[in-house]
Amino acid sequence: MKPAIANGHVVTIHYRLTLDDGSIADESFGGDPLVYLHGSHNIVPGLERQLAGKNVGDSCECVVPPEEGYGNYDPAADQTVPKTAFPPNVELKAGMSFQTRARNGQAMPVWIRSVKGDDVVVTANHPLAGQTLTFKVEVVDVRRATAEEKKHGHAHGPGGHHHH
Ligand code: ZN
Repeated sequence: MKPAIANGHVVTIHYRLTLDDGSIADESFGGDPLVYLHGSHNIVPGLERQLAGKNVGDSCECVVPPEEGYGNYDPAADQTVPKTAFPPNVELKAGMSFQTRARNGQAMPVWIRSVKGDDVVVTANHPLAGQTLTFKVEVVDVRRATAEEKKHGHAHGPGGHHHH
């Protein structure tokens, strides 16, 4: 008997993510399922919370508000920077993401919203900020995590070994 989904378990799911306008943002059906370590914030908090206690074979239509998804849209997080702030050999396009450093030195992802002439609008808002996320999920497998997976805070594939 497989355990129910709880912290410290590796969970395999198929999912389809639908946005407010009915468009499909992402899905695993027809491809490789998603494997994650429950309780380690590998997935958005609202989905992790709603999947707790589910069993292999269960499915759910999990609706996740922005506060438990990718956050509310914060206009103050948009910033215009000159093109010269980017590596010269990169073609800048809306939707690209970069790693930058916050003032406290922590790595922080930013996304390009638009490029106009020499001005680039970057934002710390996730592209899905402000969206209510509807996940159709099927639970494919649940197993206890290995000690190494718990230490790393993520699931390892069938090969098991890897370096960071
Ligand atoms: Zn690892």
